[in-house]
Amino acid sequence: MSDPMNVLAPEHRRLRIGDAWRDAAGGATFAVEDPATGKTIAEVADAGVADGLAALDAASAAMAEWAATPPRQRSELLTATYRALIGRSEEVARLITLEMGKPLAEARGEVAYGAEFFRWFAEEAVRVEGRYNTAPAGGYRILTVPKPVGPCVFVTPWNFPLAMGARKIAPALAAGCTTITKPAAQTPLTMLFLARIMEEAGVPPGVVNVVTTERAGEVVSALLADRRTRKLSFTGSTEVGRLLLRQAADNVLRTSMELGGNAALIVCADADLDVALDGAMVAKMRNIGESCIAANRIYVEEPVREEFTARFTERMGALSVGHGLDDGVDVGALIDEAAVTKLDELVADAVDRGARVLVGGERPDGPGHFYPPTVLVDVPEDARMLRTEIFGPVAPIISFTSDDEVMAQANDTEHGLAGYVFTRDLRRALRFAEGLETGMVGVNRGLISDPSAPFGGVNQSGIGKEGSHEGILEYLDVTYAAIDLP
Ligand code: NAD
Repeated sequence: MSDPMNVLAPEHRRLRIGDAWRDAAGGATFAVEDPATGKTIAEVADAGVADGLAALDAASAAMAEWAATPPRQRSELLTATYRALIGRSEEVARLITLEMGKPLAEARGEVAYGAEFFRWFAEEAVRVEGRYNTAPAGGYRILTVPKPVGPCVFVTPWNFPLAMGARKIAPALAAGCTTITKPAAQTPLTMLFLARIMEEAGVPPGVVNVVTTERAGEVVSALLADRRTRKLSFTGSTEVGRLLLRQAADNVLRTSMELGGNAALIVCADADLDVALDGAMVAKMRNIGESCIAANRIYVEEPVREEFTARFTERMGALSVGHGLDDGVDVGALIDEAAVTKLDELVADAVDRGARVLVGGERPDGPGHFYPPTVLVDVPEDARMLRTEIFGPVAPIISFTSDDEVMAQANDTEHGLAGYVFTRDLRRALRFAEGLETGMVGVNRGLISDPSAPFGGVNQSGIGKEGSHEGILEYLDVTYAAIDLP
């Protein structure tokens, strides 16, 4: 197989600003590594504040014309992007795996998922509507006019290098906004490739700008402090999200925040155990566990605890770990050394407090950032892994005996992104679906991400929704006219 890096020519490993691909103003670059080998795979431009502001110049200059571009035309450019992504799916997938570490099959899944946002919002672009009605008291009319909010700044994480950007860029363009995306420093290549695909598809210069940098703090701060920026959409940790919300306050920016999670997955004794096992495997292990909606705590009702635990442990132990580009690999490398150290520490902490490791639990020797699928039982409530995002292939199993008790435990977190319940009892399913304080609930299902559904959290997991009809509303302001007809 050819080198996955061949798809991104060296001239496109630079900043995408307006109609140019260019170096950072000071000429600085930073290295991107393959997390499975620790080897450098590319150098990309390391933007500073001046580069960020140049991208904002380009986004601002393009704004009026893009907003005035007929929706059908914007829609067709999104459709062309969708087709290009699907047509080049294998190349994009290999690039994702190379810089992020996930197995190729999962990277293909991410391309399908990410591309779908372009198709979905191509369809939404032509369905943005206002209203016209008589004021209830009579006498005048009310006309509402949706308008694009203006230039948007996007900050995205490394765990879905394509999809996390796609689900911001597609609705923004559909609504008529221009964009600047700052991808995570660990995974800038996929976003640069997307910008290249969109350039080839005919998206006008200045509409999609990409600024890669290792100096996220200063570059993003400068963008948020500039009055021309009108919107921030961030996906990442709650900690950085809080910081950016504070910065966004000075300019009173519209914000969409997709932050961290701590999902509970609840298996009731009446569940179809085959379905629950499949669901738990997906909810825990999709994306190597490096997903904001990953099952972080698995609660199993006492009568089925033993059987579920035995079968789940067997399936976790049978997964093969290796380089994501190799055939038959289920579990790729974690993003970096810090991620592996964090898992090591969380497992040690739980064991110190009395937990038992049934499988995994020891990092392998050798290069790359690997950690084996791990299952723990007897994990006490004060174990750190139940209070923090594990973000890796480690599954604590906790038993429960009453619905009220497990609901309270599940909700005992600052987060509120996703939850899962497995039961054949409709009443129980609905009580959990309504009672879990999360933005999303999987019922007898471990996979809940869908471009046609509103993705987003409550509490400290975020503000706003991505995907679905709600997704485009995040990029629209509404002006209303009060009209007298004397
Ligand atoms: P992170 O918060 O460390 O980084 C996210 C992005 O913010 C990166 O681009 C990073 O460079 C940038 N950043 C970091 N510090 C910054 C600063 N001071 N100013 C401006 N930008 C800054 O998160 P991560 O490690 O890349 O991603 C993992 C986190 O993302 C997890 O918490 C996960 O739950 C969350 N996530 C949430 C969703 C969701 O939809 N809710 C989806 C995926 C990931």
